[in-house]
Amino acid sequence: SSELSAPRSQTGVSVSFEFFPPKTSVAEDRLWDAIQKLEPLEPDFVSVTYGAGGSTRERTHRTVARMAQETRFAPAAHLTCVDASRAEIDAIAQDYWDAGVRHIVALRGDSPSGIGAAYQPHPEGYAYAADLVEGVKRIGDFEVSVAAYPELHPESADWSAEIDNLKRKIDAGATRAITQFFFSPDVFWRFQDRVLDAGINIPIVPGLMLQPNVKGLQRMSALCGVAVPNWYVELFEGLENDPLTRDMLTASLMSELTAELYARGVRHYHLYTLNRAEIASAVARVLGLHRRPHAV
Ligand code: FAD
Repeated sequence: SSELSAPRSQTGVSVSFEFFPPKTSVAEDRLWDAIQKLEPLEPDFVSVTYGAGGSTRERTHRTVARMAQETRFAPAAHLTCVDASRAEIDAIAQDYWDAGVRHIVALRGDSPSGIGAAYQPHPEGYAYAADLVEGVKRIGDFEVSVAAYPELHPESADWSAEIDNLKRKIDAGATRAITQFFFSPDVFWRFQDRVLDAGINIPIVPGLMLQPNVKGLQRMSALCGVAVPNWYVELFEGLENDPLTRDMLTASLMSELTAELYARGVRHYHLYTLNRAEIASAVARVLGLHRRPHAV
């Protein structure tokens, strides 16, 4: 009966999970443990980030290649323009192609001195993400995802510069935009309106940040030009020594956000997992992912 079925029908829902390359063997074991827990949820794809200035080049490659070999995941490798010549970037893209990886998340990246420091393109490099999209498309017919910013990229002069840039990335071959994280559905709707008004019709996939450490979240958000609403921060007050409740709260808040997005037609969600399974798994389960007939 309808009373016994899910509160909403989750047809056509899919998620992608984002990981970062682990630095130590302990962190690596933890990541693979998380991957095993998340694998039955059958994400559309999983992606692995690329550290500032290519600092994680080898680790990103190793993680993506292992995912391609040992899991059912379709892995996507993040790649940035920072501190590398076009020839170096092309070689990395070629290595991915040769390893059977067919999806690149193409980004500009930030100055190696940190987010906020002035970005200087490498003299022989790809200057911006749009140039990188064009470059990797020349190496192979990759599926290419790019970044989008519902609260404006901090370096964009205005919305028309922001939207023009997104269009350039699409013209260069990107077929999906994944958003910077945000907390209020209104932020997403306003952005979606701008995108639709501009005639952009590729999927804009909301990125959901599963960070239960609200202090760290505030620091990162300030650097990225993301607003963390006061009500969100206040919900974590007094939980400094209570990681379990922080996790539960994060899962619950992000599930609420996905429900609001779902109610107005969003079906694809990108979860910034921070290499942990619990919160991502809870959010994906509420979305109905564990109910797929082929999932265990
Ligand atoms: P772009 O699309 O190139 O835009 C950057 C800025 O430059 C914008 O303000 C744009 O308007 C402006 N611009 C574009 N073209 C021009 C031009 N020709 N002239 C002047 N201005 C121009 N960072 C990492 O280091 N590693 C990662 O793995 C990573 N993954 C990410 C994943 C997602 C989903 C997101 C949202 C971000 C990620 N980032 C990552 C962060 C990203 O690198 C930064 O936000 C970076 O500042 C911008 O990257 P972009 O690809 O959006 O750049």
